[in-house]
Amino acid sequence: MQLILLGLPGAGKGTQAQLLAQRQGLLHISTGDMFRQAAAEGTDLGKRAQEYMSRGELVPDEVTIGMLLDRIQRPDAAAGIMLDGFPRTIPQAEALDAALANQNRAIDAVLYIKVPEDLLMARLTGRWSCPNCGAIYHELTSPPAAKGKCDRCGADLTQRADDRPDTVRARLDTNRTWTEALADYYEKQGKLHAVDGAGEPDQVTARLTAEIDAVSAAGEKA
Ligand code: AMP
Repeated sequence: MQLILLGLPGAGKGTQAQLLAQRQGLLHISTGDMFRQAAAEGTDLGKRAQEYMSRGELVPDEVTIGMLLDRIQRPDAAAGIMLDGFPRTIPQAEALDAALANQNRAIDAVLYIKVPEDLLMARLTGRWSCPNCGAIYHELTSPPAAKGKCDRCGADLTQRADDRPDTVRARLDTNRTWTEALADYYEKQGKLHAVDGAGEPDQVTARLTAEIDAVSAAGEKA
């Protein structure tokens, strides 16, 4: 199977991609992880990617497409792939379709993990840390006993700039633009499957698994 996972930041895409790839025996490919690894190794590709990543911009298509197509042509990708973070532009989606067609393969399904806006905001802006002792809290999953105060040392908790509501909202807006464009692209191909991403991670995994099983059963019947 060739699957793509779509979802806005905070939808749990990375975690689910890893779990599902393991369950389905697919190679999990995250272009973000590939760029981070290349940057850590200091390769030319990594240095180039780092310039864009540090500005929060997309790495140009000519770099990203080449890297991804090379990866999916290696032997360990032959049994199937679970793409996470790729494609992010229509040219990337088109290049992927063309490359898979050359190998007599195709995307089987695109799973779009949907989470209501207010829940995404709560997940992404809930993190607070203690400037004094380094303790980390999350309003949803591990709140401090007294709001805004560290349980361990009583200091006032602080929020990272990246986690502040205005920054998070801007990030969601940018991501929504390309995510919706890709959702449309795959909807037109009849491959888009929306999955409810609210609730506990294992509930979401169960919904995604049911969707994949349905796609797989339909494929076997055809
Ligand atoms: P991620 O971990 O998926 O959020 O990716 C981290 C960063 O890597 C992104 O902010 C982009 O700068 C870059 N990146 C990852 N995947 C792509 C892609 N498909 N197209 C362009 N840039 C990407």
